[in-house]
Amino acid sequence: MNAPAEPAVIKQHLIDPEICIRCNTCESVCPVKAITHDSNNYVVDAALCKLCMACISPCPTGSIDNWRLLPAARAYSVQDQLGWEELPPELSAEQLADAGVAAADAPALAAATPAQAAAPQAEFSATRYGATLPPWSAAHAYTNLYGPKAAQKSITATVMGNVRVTAVGKDYDTHHIVLDFGGMPFPVLEGQSIGVLPPGLDDHGRPHHARQYSIASPRNGERPGYNNLSLTVKRVLEDHQGQPVRGVASNYLCDRVVGDKLQVIGPFGSSFLMPNHPKSHIVMICTGTGSAPMRAMTEWRRRLRQSGAFEGGKLMLFFGARSKEELPYFGPLLNLPKDFIDINFAFSRTPGQPKKYVQDAMRERAADLARLLADADSHFYVCGLKSMEEGVVLALQDIAQQAGLDWEAVGTALQREGRLHLETY
Ligand SMILES: Cc1cc2nc3c(=O)[nH]c(=O)nc-3n(C[C@H](O)[C@H](O)[C@H](O)COP(=O)(O)OP(=O)(O)OC[C@H]3O[C@@H](n4cnc5c(N)ncnc54)[C@H](O)[C@@H]3O)c2cc1C
Ligand code: SF4
Ligand code: SF4
Repeated sequence: MNAPAEPAVIKQHLIDPEICIRCNTCESVCPVKAITHDSNNYVVDAALCKLCMACISPCPTGSIDNWRLLPAARAYSVQDQLGWEELPPELSAEQLADAGVAAADAPALAAATPAQAAAPQAEFSATRYGATLPPWSAAHAYTNLYGPKAAQKSITATVMGNVRVTAVGKDYDTHHIVLDFGGMPFPVLEGQSIGVLPPGLDDHGRPHHARQYSIASPRNGERPGYNNLSLTVKRVLEDHQGQPVRGVASNYLCDRVVGDKLQVIGPFGSSFLMPNHPKSHIVMICTGTGSAPMRAMTEWRRRLRQSGAFEGGKLMLFFGARSKEELPYFGPLLNLPKDFIDINFAFSRTPGQPKKYVQDAMRERAADLARLLADADSHFYVCGLKSMEEGVVLALQDIAQQAGLDWEAVGTALQREGRLHLETY
């Protein structure tokens, strides 16, 4: 019997050594022991990795979510990766063609991970259009100032507030939590996140790994002028399969009271950042706690507008949840002036109403979105459930094409110019 043919092209799973905080989380969760490390780097063995994605959401920095399309014969070895100081650049279409990878092999990119292969549009890959660079006018982001390593200790934060921001209900308890860093520097930008270290040990007797939370307040603080920030935390009481579970960090955070101290690492993230140039447009597409970075960006623009010192472009929000009761910050959102932000809700489980997802709401606003897609000052941010990513980017593609735009050119520009950002978990 013949051995199965080796693929001509692979999508290799890599860890970004510049961002990785060497927390060992990925190595501990990988079911096939494909992740290893030395004193320099954490790396993925391409020969062992099954692309099961189990390591992606636990990674506190996002450094594990890196992929390179390569001729299989040129896959990076473990030894190569252990010596890296930074990720190698993506191969261009010309370099891939020179290496014998035909354009017809490109669908392999979409089918290269089980998550994408399982998506209804298997030939389409949203991540291909997701930027890894910030917008050109973004402010400089500080990252990894505090980490779990001895030389880079975590920082102590004090809980200054903890209020529920969803209507009362058993399984959709979301909290707005304010943390203060006192006299310690903790500079952040909208779109960045922090890691929270829950106390105690996991089932294997090891300290719990850090969980990542997006910052929900603007750069000058939840309370301007104070060294504080806010988070939007959903208490996890069911796992992704609907089985009852008590999420370690989310429950720990939601149960904190004013005055409690907790350990934080970060900040993390250097690309999901907002543009700062006048008349730059921001389109925000989110579900659930994916609203946290959108709240931060909206509030920063609102403060700038109040000061009269900045002429912002259009702000458009597409916000999805099962029902309005589950939508964090529903009331405050309704109070924002209509000439400041254009808000579109999508509820998938309102009794007596047809199911509506964010991509449906986007299609209803196709004419406006097409105008924004054609404008090089437009920036798109997607945050929330992993499952929304493909549908949202596919909707952008359809809207562009129906308006007569060349989606490949538009999508490539969005990616290259740091204007389409995907953060799903
Ligand atoms: C970049 C990034 C930003 C994030 N920002 C936020 C944020 O702003 N707010 C927020 O609440 N969370 C956010 N998260 C998710 C957060 O980091 C945790 O994964 C989440 O709070 C669950 O952690 P836990 O310790 O409570 O649950 P765990 O004890 O880690 O997990 C318990 C079980 O629940 C499952 N599970 C984990 N998360 C969820 C979920 N959300 N829904 C259903 N099941 C789940 C796990 O797979 C596991 O089986 C973000 C994640 C990433 C990667
Ligand atoms: S994708 Fe799955 S198999 Fe590959 S390194 Fe991550 S956990 Fe391991
Ligand atoms: S989980 Fe992420 S940050 Fe931690 S070691 Fe792995 S890649 Fe690095």
